[in-house]
Amino acid sequence: MLKSLLIVDDSPVARMIIKKCLPAEHGLQIYEAGNGQEGVEQYRTHNPDLTLMDLTMPIMNGFEAVEHIRGLDPEAVIIVSTADIQEKVIQRVKDLGALYTMKKPPSKKSLTEALERGAEAFAQVQK
Ligand SMILES: [Mg+2]
Repeated sequence: MLKSLLIVDDSPVARMIIKKCLPAEHGLQIYEAGNGQEGVEQYRTHNPDLTLMDLTMPIMNGFEAVEHIRGLDPEAVIIVSTADIQEKVIQRVKDLGALYTMKKPPSKKSLTEALERGAEAFAQVQK
């Protein structure tokens, strides 16, 4: 089971929508960051079980943040959330070590799937 979730997105509204779309009584400790650099810092501090990562952000974008976090923790479970789902973006994100890319805006369905797939991936890397 996932115990914690880090939401990295420069839009407070986008972060709020994600939180609203989470299943009821998810029981997750939620951490938030407003850009990739904050996301890396929050990851380092809290070591969340799952990270949802926006791509387009100031200071440090999501590509760089995924790369940094996977550098810190090669088993970090990260799902990218973006409106830009071109094949080359999806591939680049995958090459950087993200689990998969989900399309923005999120829905209850897409977030339920993210938590399920995230939990599966997390269970596999747990010792
Ligand atoms: Mg953004």
